[in-house]
Amino acid sequence: MIKGNLLYEGKAKTVYETDNPNELLVYFKDDATAGNGEKHGLIPGKGVINNKISAFFFKQLKDRGIKSHFIETVGEREMLVKRLDMIKLEIVVRNIVAGSLVKRLGLPEGTPLNVPVIEYDYKSDELGDPMLNRWHIMAIDVATIDELNQIEHIALTTNTILREILKAKNVDLIDFKLEFGRDISGDGEVLLADEISPDNCRFWDTQTHEKLDKDRFRQDLGGVEEAYQEILHRLTL
Ligand code: 5GP
Repeated sequence: MIKGNLLYEGKAKTVYETDNPNELLVYFKDDATAGNGEKHGLIPGKGVINNKISAFFFKQLKDRGIKSHFIETVGEREMLVKRLDMIKLEIVVRNIVAGSLVKRLGLPEGTPLNVPVIEYDYKSDELGDPMLNRWHIMAIDVATIDELNQIEHIALTTNTILREILKAKNVDLIDFKLEFGRDISGDGEVLLADEISPDNCRFWDTQTHEKLDKDRFRQDLGGVEEAYQEILHRLTL
C-alpha cells in the first residue's frame, strides 16, 4: 500500500488516497476541538489510542455481523479503510441523558431513557450541524428511506453490541455518534464508517460514573489522556 495525495483534513483525522482507488488511509491526530471548533487543544497520544480502540470495536462488530469501512491497521496512527460515498449525517444514539439532551429535554444528566433515542445531525459547517428528522433527510435527498432504515438497524444493533462489550469492562455507554457511507465499489450497501472512540462516545465508569471520554476535555475536568488510556486498557487487557 502506497500513501498517496491528501484527500481531506478534518479536526481529528486526515485522509489520504492510496494506490488502490477503492481504499483510503486514515491518520488519527492528537488534535481535539469542542464547541463547534471554538475550543482547540492537543491530547498527547490520543491518535494512537483512538486508532487502537476504533480497530478493536470494528473487529468486534465484524465478528457479530456488522460490516464497516475498516480493512486493517497499518501503523500506530493509521488504518486502511474502504472508500465510501459518505452520507452527510451524524447519527447519535443515546441510552442515558447527557450533553445536548440535558437542555433539549430539561432532564438531569444521568437520567435513563426508556428506549434508545436516535438523532440525526446534518453535516454542514455552514449551518452548524443542525438536527434533522427523517422527513428533512428524504426531502433534500441526503439519504433514501431504505438507507435510513439500514442506518437505524445498524445503529441500534451496534448499540446493543457495544453496551454488552463495555458492560463486561465496567463501563456504561451513555451515547455515541456514528457516520455511514455507501459502498460504491460494491452494490451501494450502507456501511459503518468514521471511528468509534472516546472522541465520539460517552463512557462512564459503571460504579463511580466517572467520565472516561472527551467530556473531560470539553468540560476542563483534567485527566483527559489518562481517561483515554483507561478505556483502551479496560477493553484490551
Ligand atoms: P451531544 O449532542 O450530547 O453533544 O453529543 C452526543 C454524542 O455524540 C456524544 O457522545 C458526542 O461525543 C457525539 N458527538 C456529537 N457530535 C459530535 C461531533 O461533531 N464530533 C464528535 N467527535 N462527536 C460528536
